[in-house]
Amino acid sequence: MKPITPGDTETPRATAAVPAAELTLEGTGVSRGIAIGIIHRHDAEAVRVPEYKLPLARVEAEKARFAEAAERAGRQVAQLQMKAEGLDGAAAEELGYLLDAYQQMLHGSRLIRGVHRRIETDRVNAEAAVQREIDEIARGFEAMEDSYLSARVADIRDLGRRLIRNLTGAPYRPFQVLPKNAIILAEELTPADTALLDPKQVAGLATVLGGAESHTAIMARSLGLPAVLGVAGLMRGVRSGDLAIIDGRAGKVILNPRPEVLETYRHHRAEFLRGRRALTRLKDVAAVTKDGARIQLQANIELPGEVDSVLAAGAEGIGLLRSEFLFMNREDIPGEDEQFHILKDLVTRMAGRPVTIRTLDVGGDKLAQGLGIVTGANPSLGLRAVRLSLSRPELLDAQLAAGLRVSAYGPVKILVPLVATVEEMRAVREAMDNVVKRLKRKGVPMSDPLPPLGVMIEVPGAALAADALAWHADFFAIGTNDLTQYTLAIDRADESVAHLYNPLHPAVLRLIQFSAEAALRARIPVCVCGEVAGDPRFTALLLGLGIRDLSMSATNIPVVKQRIRAMDLVAATRRARVIMDQSDSARIAQLLDGFNEGED
Ligand code: PEP
Ligand code: MG
Repeated sequence: MKPITPGDTETPRATAAVPAAELTLEGTGVSRGIAIGIIHRHDAEAVRVPEYKLPLARVEAEKARFAEAAERAGRQVAQLQMKAEGLDGAAAEELGYLLDAYQQMLHGSRLIRGVHRRIETDRVNAEAAVQREIDEIARGFEAMEDSYLSARVADIRDLGRRLIRNLTGAPYRPFQVLPKNAIILAEELTPADTALLDPKQVAGLATVLGGAESHTAIMARSLGLPAVLGVAGLMRGVRSGDLAIIDGRAGKVILNPRPEVLETYRHHRAEFLRGRRALTRLKDVAAVTKDGARIQLQANIELPGEVDSVLAAGAEGIGLLRSEFLFMNREDIPGEDEQFHILKDLVTRMAGRPVTIRTLDVGGDKLAQGLGIVTGANPSLGLRAVRLSLSRPELLDAQLAAGLRVSAYGPVKILVPLVATVEEMRAVREAMDNVVKRLKRKGVPMSDPLPPLGVMIEVPGAALAADALAWHADFFAIGTNDLTQYTLAIDRADESVAHLYNPLHPAVLRLIQFSAEAALRARIPVCVCGEVAGDPRFTALLLGLGIRDLSMSATNIPVVKQRIRAMDLVAATRRARVIMDQSDSARIAQLLDGFNEGED
């Protein structure tokens, strides 16, 4: 790919012989803004395999270097095998078979023999020998026209990548070589991949898979990257190096735009950026309705690096720290001390503003390789979030201890995700009491009183049992993303049902209302931290339902604040009452949009 200089960031590659025709594709716009840049196909990103010739004298040393890398791979797989044993039933069995197969491949198999032979006869370095051998084995398997065997090709390649990573010492790091102003196009981006995107380098993204409330979409919003997901046919015929436009509001991807289209979008982009800059003026004013109700606006964050944008947006605290992102893109698990140091830095930088640390919510569409979780047929209904934490007490204890220790450096709350039963909260509370005792014995400083322990209300059963849960919780955080997903049985990350995902369904609204009222009855604080909190369309309704604390992606704080400052709470409450009497989502949307447009 032609390297693009900073002043030349919208120039497509010069090598394209015939300029490709303009093509407009549609999907779900999940993060607003307009990006104009150079396409980078994520799937074409090969693992970098160094290749060089070996002098005869180096052959034995190279074989020893390979043996060491294979031995290390054996230890890594053994670690995964240990974790797999802790899993239940079919999942353990499935992963067990795969890992056994890896171990066999690592010990005297054709792969190992082939790599040795290539080092000896081709006289190439071990990385190149692995790549060549894997390619040859894969070609053989693919030719067998047996779907089971050709699926094993992926496993062989996976093991090959592990060996190459061990040899080069380089961890998996995609997006290392990008044109400036890159537009990332991919079949699918995992939340962990998306967390690696640097907004200074990347202008926007689009994928074939993924729904509006997937964690990939949430991550794109947090990073302020215009994004369109669920774009059918996106990867057909696109070339890295060509020009593309992402329109994150309209949900459009325009490949190879004509000059006049480009000009129009440059104009739209300038306008969008002007609007966003104008809103930053609201940073230091309070979020108060016209009739004087004070609303707390906090930020959701995934990565500690987001603290600067949280402060720049004028957030009053961090209402949701998705701690699972600390576990992603690495093969090991961060221990208590490492978590403590990351959190201490974050809490210190928040300078007295509250920080709500959520315990691990891995599972569903978020995975962390170090944890070796195997997803069942229904990952969102499986060993996710608090269920995982309670099944791996060492993980929970380390997280609780890190959270408790940082409470000495600023106001901290601890939040438990995906709680469905009172028993789960009792178990977490007991674990926390034990950790407190251990830390006290060691004389570790902690806040007094200790950090409040909250429940995320995101399972319909938890919302319906909110009165009982309120007895066991110091606060509630309503997670409308999952609450909508589980109430309507719609996978929030699945683009094929994205059009059915609707937080304005009366059932979802009733669950929000019921939870908010249960919190008020129990006199515990309640906040909404799902994506609706950051969409000004929903603000009047949430406030009308009694919510006074919203937590959202930092980039949305200014627009929500603007909405609050233009709103009358008494009128919003009246409108919410009318809305709650409706049984039809379309009518609800009409009533809400009408109110937002000024009808009273
Ligand atoms: C939610 O479910 O609304 C929520 C805030 O949690 P997450 O998006 O991380 O699942
Ligand atoms: Mg959730």
